[in-house]
Amino acid sequence: MYAFHRSQCPAYLTDCWERLGRHYETRKRRNQRYRFKWFSEFRYPTTKQKLYEMTQGHCAFCDGGSLGAESRMTLEHFKPKSRKQFYRLAYQWENLYPCCDTCQAQKRDGYDAALLVGDQPGYVFDDYFIVNYITGGLEPNPLVASENQHRADVTIATYGLNLDVRKISRKRELRYYRHRDASVEFIDDFRYRYFLNDA
Ligand SMILES: [Zn+2]
Repeated sequence: MYAFHRSQCPAYLTDCWERLGRHYETRKRRNQRYRFKWFSEFRYPTTKQKLYEMTQGHCAFCDGGSLGAESRMTLEHFKPKSRKQFYRLAYQWENLYPCCDTCQAQKRDGYDAALLVGDQPGYVFDDYFIVNYITGGLEPNPLVASENQHRADVTIATYGLNLDVRKISRKRELRYYRHRDASVEFIDDFRYRYFLNDA
């Protein structure tokens, strides 16, 4: 998980997110099967684009990016819109994250207050994780407080950050990164930037 700064909520969303959230909550409480939808006021394509600009086009959780056939870019409700206590946050800017469909499929409706997010104030990768260049895996940093290690564990498990396919993919990306043309290719052009940073 790579740190990023959240930009300000777009004005069109400031004006409508609470009302849309209340509308969703009312419908959902009346009928559990009510299907969530993006209203035109929400400006789905623009909002999605603004979210991806915050992370230079990367998934906010695994830091995959520009995945094309390998994965699809989606919007993630960090606090799940399927849970009663979060119905009202369904359109809240701060609850929306750019996220690949692999991370979405792993997390589903899961939520834990210990989960880490890259735009959390003061978040630094090394305060929670270390990378294993042999396996391609992420591990809790053994030198930090046990609470931090717990948060790293929960985050790795929830988003499936150590799926075999991801470990393989990180090691492959590292090879590409080491052979890059540094005059035209920069770290933001690559996936799993936390893995490449100190390589
Ligand atoms: Zn992802």
